[in-house]
Amino acid sequence: MSAPNKSYDPVEVEALKPEEIERMRDEALAAFAAAGDLDELAHAKVAHTGGTSPLALANREIGALPPQAKAEAGKRVGQARGQVSKALATRQAELEAERDARVLVEEAVDVTLPYDRTPSGARHPLTTLMERVSDVFVSMGYEVAEGPEVEAEWFNFDALNFVPDHPARQTQDTFFVQGTTADGKVTTGDESGIVLRTHTSPVQARTLIDREPPVYVVCPGRVYRTDELDATHTPVFHQIELLAVDEGLTMADLKGTLDHMVQALFGPDMKTRLRPNFFPFTEPSAEMDMLCYVCRGESVGNPERPCRTCSSEGWIELGGCGMVNPKVLVACGVDPQKYSGFAFGFGIERMLMFRHNVEDMRDMVEGDVRFTRPFGMEI
Ligand SMILES: [Zn+2]
Repeated sequence: MSAPNKSYDPVEVEALKPEEIERMRDEALAAFAAAGDLDELAHAKVAHTGGTSPLALANREIGALPPQAKAEAGKRVGQARGQVSKALATRQAELEAERDARVLVEEAVDVTLPYDRTPSGARHPLTTLMERVSDVFVSMGYEVAEGPEVEAEWFNFDALNFVPDHPARQTQDTFFVQGTTADGKVTTGDESGIVLRTHTSPVQARTLIDREPPVYVVCPGRVYRTDELDATHTPVFHQIELLAVDEGLTMADLKGTLDHMVQALFGPDMKTRLRPNFFPFTEPSAEMDMLCYVCRGESVGNPERPCRTCSSEGWIELGGCGMVNPKVLVACGVDPQKYSGFAFGFGIERMLMFRHNVEDMRDMVEGDVRFTRPFGMEI
């Protein structure tokens, strides 16, 4: 920066002459006008308004002038810089408007174009729901176990403490599979000893026979009963079964496990309750209800807020559960004096119906992609 001294009379500085300032200003205005896009304008901005631009350098020279000359030069430079920054702002706005208009045109999507991709289906919601429930238990350390769908009657009934004349064993409830005896005789009906499994519980017996406790397994699978297909019944449906056998397990462990499951699936404020019931393979047995996931129980005794999902009862029945009957443990070679266990099972179709408001079970089996696609790719 120049400084006044005795040998230098800075009344006139070359860079501060009016025509010089005008030239600098005009060059800046021309550069802004010539900028074709925002990048070019950014370069021009640095060149003509930055710290080393001619006008900025000229501005620094002002300090070296005597007072009168300083005021005049200051006014000239100030005006020029004002004009330059105004022109810059104007050009900036013009170029931004141009860019926005161009983006609107370039990125437009023609929604009337024909749809030319091959339509893809989606995984069936029963599959994704079964996997989701299984994952809840896998995250607690359970293993997924599977068993055959064509099952020995012994595993399906006898091992699970169904007495020989239990009504479930009748052909009006159970599909019996044609078999052959050792001497070649074809057996049909309930003589064959082979059934399409009516529940996933035989996997419990198979697991207990196969391995030593402690056992923690979850068994999702397809099961069969001789029901007609209608809005609330299907002869082929899905269950998920839970079995834990270890030393010292109690109903409290069962209750805690069920609470965790419904909280993982329906939200942290979910609760369960148990009502006494009877199943041959558990003792004691209970029906398990979960808090209505729609009204959270608030519709009970509240006629102004009725709930269709739970009929204003506040609870939804989910499945059966209980402590594994010691007779089942004995049948599978487990010492009931040392080990105890709990089991739990429920229907996936039913859970899908109330979790996703599916009103007709037939929609689940007819294979129409218009039903499965909205469930998407739940991961
Ligand atoms: Zn409700």
